[in-house]
Amino acid sequence: MSRLKGKVAIVTGGGRGIGAAIVRRFSAEGARVVAAQRDMAEAERTIAGVNANGGDAIAVQADVTVESSVERMVETTLAHFGTVDILCNNAGIGGVQSLLELEPDYFSRVMNTNVLGVLLCTKHVLPTMAKKRAGSVINIASICSFRGLPRSVVYCASKGALLMATRQTALDFAGDGVRVNAIAPGFIGNEMFDAYCDAEPDPMAARDAILATIPLGTLGDEEDVAAAASYLASSDSRWMTGSTLVIDGGSLLLSGTPSHG
Ligand code: NDP
Repeated sequence: MSRLKGKVAIVTGGGRGIGAAIVRRFSAEGARVVAAQRDMAEAERTIAGVNANGGDAIAVQADVTVESSVERMVETTLAHFGTVDILCNNAGIGGVQSLLELEPDYFSRVMNTNVLGVLLCTKHVLPTMAKKRAGSVINIASICSFRGLPRSVVYCASKGALLMATRQTALDFAGDGVRVNAIAPGFIGNEMFDAYCDAEPDPMAARDAILATIPLGTLGDEEDVAAAASYLASSDSRWMTGSTLVIDGGSLLLSGTPSHG
């Protein structure tokens, strides 16, 4: 597998969870990779594993909600690897809060991370990509871009906004040769999923209820999302822009939302 050979990729939130799986997959396919997030210890651990397997990855501390930090992340990438071809906007936060509990600070944190952070990172890689007339931006959205999730009004609003931001950015920069697509994962069996279930009055019942809504009968793996990211990063998807790949075990089939996104 070397379809990303010679490419340089930035993965935000690349130190753990889905982002770390994407870092490992991009590296396995030949890319040089930057794993960026706030917690450097996690990012260092992930890239140590990648480099021990023959990869070429660095960890960069970045907060996607702070423009100066994003600028530094891109500058460090350019200084270290000379260019950037792929940006995977994976950093995101969830949390459970109903509208009646809504705290404006929580709203700002989620929107600033899940929407503003994506726009800032994209803004700062675009000049390099447009100059090369090539680039792939991949935004990790969610099936919550299309359907509801109990006590998650802010998260759903943020992922819905991210989908429209993806489409408009794709339109604005298609003429520059930059492709912008999204992935909408369903329920992935990792810490974010556990945190969602644990916040419900009966976590086991919540988990079973969610499993019952997945036609393929299991939670997804982080690697399922990484495989889709690798496809969108590569020239295999060269005629795709503004699209969304839904990776959800069929969940959207039961919510009346078109599963093609
Ligand atoms: P995790 O909570 O495990 O990882 C989130 C990552 O984002 C961490 O690396 C975190 O690092 C980083 N991050 C958060 N805030 C910032 C910030 N301000 N600046 C830089 N990095 C930040 O979540 P998942 O791996 O599960 O989720 C990854 C993405 O997938 C998210 O966008 C999520 O919404 C989406 N998703 C997840 C699903 C699931 O079931 N798990 C389903 C659908 C979508 P740090 O805190 O150190 O900065």
